[in-house]
Amino acid sequence: MKSSQNILLIYTGGTIGMMEDPDTGSLVPFDFAQLRMHVPELRRFDCHIDVVSFDEPIDSSDVNIDSWQRMAQMVEVNYDHYDGFVILHGTDTMAFSASALSFMLQNLDKPVIFTGSQLPIGQIRTDGKENLITAIEIASATDNGLPIVQEVGVLFQSKLFRGNRTHKYSTENFDAFESANLAPLAEVGIHINYRRDLLLRPKGPLTVRKAFDDCVGILKIFPGISRTLVEGILSIGGLRAFVLESFGAGNGPTEDWFLQALRDATARGIIILNVTQCNKGMVEQGLYETSSAFEEIGIISGGDMTTEAALVKLMYLLGLNYASADMKRILLESISGERTGD
Ligand code: ASP
Repeated sequence: MKSSQNILLIYTGGTIGMMEDPDTGSLVPFDFAQLRMHVPELRRFDCHIDVVSFDEPIDSSDVNIDSWQRMAQMVEVNYDHYDGFVILHGTDTMAFSASALSFMLQNLDKPVIFTGSQLPIGQIRTDGKENLITAIEIASATDNGLPIVQEVGVLFQSKLFRGNRTHKYSTENFDAFESANLAPLAEVGIHINYRRDLLLRPKGPLTVRKAFDDCVGILKIFPGISRTLVEGILSIGGLRAFVLESFGAGNGPTEDWFLQALRDATARGIIILNVTQCNKGMVEQGLYETSSAFEEIGIISGGDMTTEAALVKLMYLLGLNYASADMKRILLESISGERTGD
């Protein structure tokens, strides 16, 4: 690690910065200055660390488009002054925020590493210290003077994942995240072993686009789903696109009313992106008869994208106001490493 590395810690909230309220016993955020007190190791790092914080730290359940814009803004305005960025964030919606930042910050040539913890950093068995320290180490790691990681990652326990491939799968394990369709970008043990063959590299100068459109939804189907529910969701005024969470390799009911509801939606210009309810694997429309109709209706295969990445990608692309045909093409492409080529 070069001693001259400058790292910016961006504190948004979450368990990592929480303490127990002595009166109620519930977890409440504390002033970020206290985090340094709880992690004196930060002072011993062989790099310079500055801290910026959300004015009001939030539980990540309260994260919204404005939060993503503030995070991206904090990276953008400080981009030239720092070698790497660590974003401290609650685990609950970290996969959405990491996806959002991965789309907003195109052509990163510096690391933006999300981390958090399952136990507050003040508690004796906390996982927060280790996560924070490893995230800083990754954010400051270089090869021949260049950052090893040049993309948005999620560091949790012993693995660095591509941010837009992550899913929080455990409410209690210290390794709370998985990236079922892409191997970890780094494994953390005595050494940090990077998968250099997987790491993204910029194709041009950094561009930051912060517009999103929230006229989106998720329709998770289930056996016995009612016509009223499906038609109700699809007739919501202003709906522009939604993620269809389908069964297995992209399958759904073949009942006429169901297919007709989807057909009517696409005829009204609503974009439907099909991702699987399974954690691992991908949508292959047309593999079974139960998904052939989706193909014919014009539903777009989300490949192996997570629901989190698929939804945020829709919000991002709608925010950029692409024409429908371009939007469909870009949804089928990987723009930030979020899907594997089908
Ligand atoms: N509810 C918390 C949050 O997501 C949990 C955590 O920090 O891990 O903000």
